[in-house]
Amino acid sequence: MKGKRTRDKSVIYINGKFYGRDRAGISVFDHGLLYGDGVFEGIRVYNSRIFKLKEHIDRLYESANTLMLRIPISKSQMIADVLKTVKKNDSCTYIRLVITRGVGTLGLNPFLCPKPSIIIIADRIQLYPTSFYKKGLKVITVPTQRNRPEALNPRVKSLNYLNNILAKIEAVNSGFHEAIMLNSYGFVSECTGDNIFIVKNGILLTPSLYMGVLEGVTRNTVIELAKEDNIEVKQIVMSRHDIFNADECFLTGTAAEIVPVVECDKRIIGNGQPGPMTKKLIRLYKNLTNTIGM
Ligand code: PMP
Repeated sequence: MKGKRTRDKSVIYINGKFYGRDRAGISVFDHGLLYGDGVFEGIRVYNSRIFKLKEHIDRLYESANTLMLRIPISKSQMIADVLKTVKKNDSCTYIRLVITRGVGTLGLNPFLCPKPSIIIIADRIQLYPTSFYKKGLKVITVPTQRNRPEALNPRVKSLNYLNNILAKIEAVNSGFHEAIMLNSYGFVSECTGDNIFIVKNGILLTPSLYMGVLEGVTRNTVIELAKEDNIEVKQIVMSRHDIFNADECFLTGTAAEIVPVVECDKRIIGNGQPGPMTKKLIRLYKNLTNTIGM
């Protein structure tokens, strides 16, 4: 009942105005809905402080720039509006920031959409159960390949997630929670909503951006934390063989944070338990999110 009352008070930002949950809506002619034409960010709030807001905003504007989608407010105005939305939703732990192409015709032409829509939702996030973090996740590789960068660069965090959704369907159909997606050359790119890392002989390895991955904010944070801790980090061309024979494996993402992986395609990774470097990085990441904010 208490949770329900908090929810009812939540307000959603749309184009500079705030609306109650039930009244927040956008046009059915918005190309975000009609064509998945838009960009978004998922951002964490820890202890009422927004984690890596600048990095998320920078990525949002870069994604939009590649799509020639001109966000109608400046980055500093966007930051101010996100802060305002978080303040109005004081129990929020997660922000979903969405920019759509805006209202246009039923045709595809994005140049007929004069004004992009800005939506900011500050709500709560559903986490993986804690047992996954303790015991580790079992994952599989799936037939659906990650988008080719020449077709739609995975570095663009666009509203068109069908590529990832198809892979997620394949994982769930096979009884798994997460899938590793390969690129069109058969090398490892990333998961449906997370980046991937392995540890081999004390070195931390992750697929390079050229393998067709989203440049995850959590991925970058983990790389920084590892380097600060004198852990060698390499961005590589990674194959399934590398994962099968890794000492450790884990996934990173804003919502998931750092999740250990203990099995891939029925091959046990390391000793089948979350490894020491994974646990150390989880600890360092927790320290950071507990102490740093905007
Ligand atoms: N890859 C994909 C495909 C994603 O959707 C996400 C975000 N959920 C990530 C990686 C992780 O990115 P970040 O750490 O910025 O959340």
